[in-house]
Amino acid sequence: MLNEPITAIKGVGDKLQQELELINIFTVEDLLFYFPNRYDSYEVKPIRELLHEEKVTIEGEVIGEPTVTFYGRKRSRLVVNLQVEHHVVKGIMFNRPFAKKQLRPGDVVTLTGKWDQHRLQITVSNYKKGKAKSQDQIQPIYPLKGSITNKQIVKLMKAAVSQYAFSIEEILPDDYLTSYKLPNRSDALCQIHFPTSFNHLKHAKRRFIYEEFLLFQLKMQWIRKRTKEATVGNSLNYNEERVNQFIDKLPFSLTNAQTKALTEILDDMKSAYRMNRLLQGDVGSGKTAVAAICLFASITCGKQGALMVPTEILAEQHYESLKNMFEGYGRVGLLTGSIKGKARKEIVTKIQSHEVDIVIGTHALIQDEVNFFDLGLVIVDEQHRFGVNQRKALREKGMHPDVLFMTATPIPRTLAISTFGDMDVSIIDEMPEGRKEIETYWVKENMLDRVLQFIEKEVKQGYQAYVICPLIEESEKLDIQNAVDLFHQLSHYFKGKLGVGLMHGRLRSEEKEEVMQEFAANRIQVLVSTTVVEVGVNVPNATVMVVYDAERFGLSQLHQLRGRVGRGSAQSYCILIADPKGEVGKERMRIMTETTNGFELSEQDLQLRGPGDFFGRKQSGLPEFKVADVVHDYRALETARRDAWTVIQDDLLKLPPFEKLRDLLEEMDDEGDTLD
Ligand code: ADP
Ligand code: MG
Repeated sequence: MLNEPITAIKGVGDKLQQELELINIFTVEDLLFYFPNRYDSYEVKPIRELLHEEKVTIEGEVIGEPTVTFYGRKRSRLVVNLQVEHHVVKGIMFNRPFAKKQLRPGDVVTLTGKWDQHRLQITVSNYKKGKAKSQDQIQPIYPLKGSITNKQIVKLMKAAVSQYAFSIEEILPDDYLTSYKLPNRSDALCQIHFPTSFNHLKHAKRRFIYEEFLLFQLKMQWIRKRTKEATVGNSLNYNEERVNQFIDKLPFSLTNAQTKALTEILDDMKSAYRMNRLLQGDVGSGKTAVAAICLFASITCGKQGALMVPTEILAEQHYESLKNMFEGYGRVGLLTGSIKGKARKEIVTKIQSHEVDIVIGTHALIQDEVNFFDLGLVIVDEQHRFGVNQRKALREKGMHPDVLFMTATPIPRTLAISTFGDMDVSIIDEMPEGRKEIETYWVKENMLDRVLQFIEKEVKQGYQAYVICPLIEESEKLDIQNAVDLFHQLSHYFKGKLGVGLMHGRLRSEEKEEVMQEFAANRIQVLVSTTVVEVGVNVPNATVMVVYDAERFGLSQLHQLRGRVGRGSAQSYCILIADPKGEVGKERMRIMTETTNGFELSEQDLQLRGPGDFFGRKQSGLPEFKVADVVHDYRALETARRDAWTVIQDDLLKLPPFEKLRDLLEEMDDEGDTLD
């Protein structure tokens, strides 16, 4: 019955049907699950609780005849006096002279409008005769498209709810409803559309939030379990002895956290199912070292490995360091967008004929022309910068390559479990020994002179500095102009004292490489740059990071930038130049000066900016929830995740209380609605 076409509801003709299709409503069920996105309150409150200038609703008795004054053409002002509690309240109505006849002395009426606390006066937008009925006090406001109005939807919804709400079946087991004190599905549905109080509405929402999260978590964990069971053997039988030799040869010994993560990854590689793991670790925690060891492990069983990174600079840098590490252990190749012509053909051929073991590259790695001979392991650095499709494309290059995603932007737990519920997670939560905490300062622009003097002082002691210029949203051109201007300005300021270099995204890759080499070799002491140096760049001798207009960056991004210094043994500094206007901006600068823990920062960032911004709008890959909000409702999310875990692990879906949930999951599965 619920799947009857929408025309089953009285009053829905062809035209309305078409309008409804625009908002994806085809069946009665679609309509019922089309939820309001907010509510207007017409709740009557005592006068002492009314707030000045807010929209309020009051109820009272008309005293005397309303008066109407006309002015101009067609313009009028009506004044009605109401007895409310023991006050006389003035109601003002513009251009509705006819209301005079409806508001008779002694009538009880309900007025809604803007409240003036000082004059005890309300500018009326809505009036109704009689007392306010409780079910009209909260009005649903639906998201709209096309020419359909809220009034129309409300009317249809009333019909649909009264005709069909009783046939909505419960899908959650009774035990869950009881232990979380959730209303049943049918009641909750009535309340979400036509709440009888804000309290009822709260519980209705709570129910649907939990339901949404639970289904989502069940789906992901179910898929994950099935994939693990079904994936045919890509068990990489790496040579443990050779891997250990490789580790021993490193110039440092691994931290405990690195060893633990490494063991988890190697176990995945060895096992028959396809690895799908996220490696999280703060900037400088030594993820790259772990990645190199894993890549080497795949070489020892005759497979190739790929490392995909978001920028060319980073690809080149990784290439240089891996080439050194792999000397005598494997052949390393580089493939980026700016490797063209003959050189490109050569590397593409080598990849195909297995003349290279490890390939480092950017998006260029996933182009059609690139085919691996036998790809065993793919590592994606800074994974949140890659879209879901790109990850998929790369994965499809090999038979069933294991995939490891790495990120130095620690993903808040809340998001990690919602977005990556289908992934295993390893965390490096320990820094190599001997690192000093970076000191962070927040200054206003008028301190610039002192900042520059400070740079000079550090340079005199043999160190180097980055200066990151303001970022201008949506205009790479202006960004670069800014960088160029700042470069000239600083070159002039430091003339004869120290060397200044310039780095930005529009430089040709040879130019970038040259600048990076100059900086790495300390032939340039100050590097002016846009955010292209944000991730991964490693020059241990740099001790100062100055960020202009720091308020324009996200906390995680600032943390990434800050991570460019403090990579050697010397004390390092991060100076944020910012003059934020709002409280949130100031708060963010304070947080930066107080916290150097990336996980903590990313949680805060998420709280302040919301999940969309956190990952960058386009490629967020974040699931969309109808009622739930991963940040706001994270407790419910955790509960749902735990419950889903129990259900999947203990195979409860087979049991009668879970029957409906299983049906729903199977339906979703048929739609091919899987996560990658
Ligand atoms: P990440 O990729 O996590 O930001 P890297 O792997 O680039 O970190 O490591 C940062 C620096 O620390 C590098 O110079 C690396 O050689 C060094 N390093 C990595 N692991 C260790 C360790 N266990 N002990 C000392 N130094 C380490
Ligand atoms: Mg790294």
